[in-house]
Amino acid sequence: MQHFLDRPLARRRSVGVAVGGVMVGGDAPVVVQSMTNTDTADVDATVAQVAALHRAGSEIVRITVDRDESAAAVPRIRDRLARLGVHVPLVGDFHYIGHKLLADHPACAEALAKYRINPGNVGFREKKDRQFGAIIETAIRHDKPVRIGVNWGSLDQELLTRLMDENQSQGSPLTAGEVMREAIVQSALISAAMAEEIGLPRNKIILSAKVSQVQDLIGVYVELAKRSDHALHLGLTEAGMGTKGIVASSAAMSILLQQGIGDTIRISLTPEPGGDRTREVQVGQELLQTMGFRQFVPIVAACPGCGRTTSTVFQELAATIQDDLRRNMPLWRDKYPGVEALQVAVMGCIVNGPGESKQADIGISLPGTGETPSAPVFVDGQKAATLRGPNIASDFQKMVADYIERRFGQQEKQAAE
Ligand code: SF4
Repeated sequence: MQHFLDRPLARRRSVGVAVGGVMVGGDAPVVVQSMTNTDTADVDATVAQVAALHRAGSEIVRITVDRDESAAAVPRIRDRLARLGVHVPLVGDFHYIGHKLLADHPACAEALAKYRINPGNVGFREKKDRQFGAIIETAIRHDKPVRIGVNWGSLDQELLTRLMDENQSQGSPLTAGEVMREAIVQSALISAAMAEEIGLPRNKIILSAKVSQVQDLIGVYVELAKRSDHALHLGLTEAGMGTKGIVASSAAMSILLQQGIGDTIRISLTPEPGGDRTREVQVGQELLQTMGFRQFVPIVAACPGCGRTTSTVFQELAATIQDDLRRNMPLWRDKYPGVEALQVAVMGCIVNGPGESKQADIGISLPGTGETPSAPVFVDGQKAATLRGPNIASDFQKMVADYIERRFGQQEKQAAE
């Protein structure tokens, strides 16, 4: 029997959903998406951030639509982005008054590629089903998909209370945590069934069920995947800042992705004050790439360094090469087809340097402390040069650029012929 850690299980079969020009689920690769943190009513700031997220590789971008001014800004944002040549699908995030905003701003309803609604806060008591239905009908009228995004922080309290009461009357009741997970799953499935009953086809529905704890997220999505064939959006909510957010999101999502669960992901990182919002896109791409599911940007393998690397040359070179590759990718994606599969190694000394560098397409083994100040460069597994002197870093950068031109520029020429 194959264990799920041996190699990825086959992707779970889900019903594909077209979000603008991007396919989510079905046979499509796992899609990376992101969300702005600008005031959507501020058109300039939102256009700039959406464009930056898209340039970083976000394939879908979600924006908050929380009031009339935001809804009125959406078509202007869409138009401005189109003039900049940015055609990334925009998703509107609606809470509480989504039904009203979509009804009052038909141009917003049309400009968006998808609506995201949270069944826990579309309305309360007798208004809930009516307002949920109004959003679904708007989606049907405009031929838009909907993400039904349950969030444990705003879980449908009526459903949770009912399940808690039913649980109490059981002979061996579940724990409160287990009932909450079941309520999250049921909230998503019941809402999806309601949307289908109203007339929204399954290929217009994506489900998500976000929680903030890794084990809860895995449990909820495994259950959702078992009980439905809807396309699933993965995300750990309130993942946190910096390494904590990255580790928690990666731990949860990698286990699900390895089991074939998940059609689109978002890494919800809290940025540092003034921090770069595009980090969440980079982390999402690196998660999928390091797991071998997709290729976005050439990867630089670098050793961690140790007492044999007392100068900073090696760290600086690894960082420079990785930054160079990432910065150039928007241009290279078209110019050098296949370049995203490139593997570069930057190693700190002779211990593992030559071996690791031979495994890469192009790699350099820098001199460690006390070694002869020369740096062998390996290309396609063969020693191609030995760099010396103060310009080792810039010489190696040039060799990488030449290698890319030679190997991937040829493909460009052949494709043109
Ligand atoms: S390759 Fe050399 S410098 Fe890098 S971690 Fe190994 S021993 Fe240390």
